[in-house]
Amino acid sequence: MDLSHRISDLTGGSNADAWALFFKTRALKDAGVALTDLTIGEHDIRTDPAILTAMHDAAMGGHTGYASLPGTPALRAAIAKRVAARTGVPTGPENVLVTAGGQAALFATHHAVLDEGTRALFPDPFYPTYPGTVRAVGGVPVPVPTRAEDGFVPRPESILAASDGNARSLLINTPNNPTGAVYDRTALEGIADAVREAGLWLISDEVYETMVWDGSHLTPRALPGMAERTLVVGSMSKTFAMTGSRIGWIVGPEAAIAAMGQLVIHTTYGVPGFVQDAALFALGLGDKFEDAIARPFRRRRDIAVACLARQNVVRAVPAAGAMYLMLDVRATGLSGVTVAEHLLDEERIAVLPGESFGGAAAGHLRLAMTVDDAAFETALTRLLEVVGAMAETRAAE
Ligand code: PMP
Repeated sequence: MDLSHRISDLTGGSNADAWALFFKTRALKDAGVALTDLTIGEHDIRTDPAILTAMHDAAMGGHTGYASLPGTPALRAAIAKRVAARTGVPTGPENVLVTAGGQAALFATHHAVLDEGTRALFPDPFYPTYPGTVRAVGGVPVPVPTRAEDGFVPRPESILAASDGNARSLLINTPNNPTGAVYDRTALEGIADAVREAGLWLISDEVYETMVWDGSHLTPRALPGMAERTLVVGSMSKTFAMTGSRIGWIVGPEAAIAAMGQLVIHTTYGVPGFVQDAALFALGLGDKFEDAIARPFRRRRDIAVACLARQNVVRAVPAAGAMYLMLDVRATGLSGVTVAEHLLDEERIAVLPGESFGGAAAGHLRLAMTVDDAAFETALTRLLEVVGAMAETRAAE
């Protein structure tokens, strides 16, 4: 029996090959092969015991039934308060929907703004679930090319060129996965102008909002005239090391939030009450706690900058935030896939090729800085030696 296009077309696409490396890494690890895994953006610490205790206490206290669907009033209020305080944009509980992680928020936001066959834009390189999320709701994914020279930040004219009468949304992500770029005010203003001109919704994926090393995180929702057309995707995953708890949110105009609340009824039926209570507890832990979760990535970014300064073959996209480092290995004359395969097979260093994230980051490698500092430094030092040697071989040819 045939399955629907929506489900059949969910995965695949032109970058599927690049993911073979990820599955090979998994298989090697499962077979007990020692390797340094820099593939996936997951903290090397677990959820803090205090948060787990709050979760346990909530469950033992009886919060195990169907929970409030748009989110518990207390959690919605806490998220609204946090967003208002951080961004200066008036935000109430009616502007907040609690979702099963940022991923469910990405799904709900696209479901809310796309009709069958309409186009959804996002800059290339992109977080790999984006195209499938758009296809899953019947939309047409449209990657907007960006350039390494621009730090992979999209130019307004590229957004306008990619939008036509049928485009409904632009999805951006700052701090960015996979590039580590943080969009500054000028970039965001240019994007906002293009979005307004093209009559698009802006979906702003801000799941790395607390992981910024240079500059500061700005939400486009705070720009003039943008709150009414912006849907912000937030998450507890990265900020609180709660990836497995599956809790995030959408912030946006009240009517859109109410409509997406209906979608929650028809999909997840909400997020477990004890997880919502744990999130509420975590949000109360304060800046110091959030800084401590983010700090290792900043430290490793600094380690990377020092390692990179000792050579001049591999260049990095300035890593201003998130958990990642994007390295330009085009000096080897090889694809990111070939270089990454070599690193895995010969050096047991697992990284993802830029090609896993679309066409614009071809010839790059993405490193998740998610192993301890010493292991990270050792792996990066070796990677730079190996890639340097590959580039020399090419030069001698
Ligand atoms: N957006 C980006 C850019 C991500 O990197 C991730 C997770 N890696 C997500 C969204 C989804 O995160 P979660 O569903 O865990 O909140």
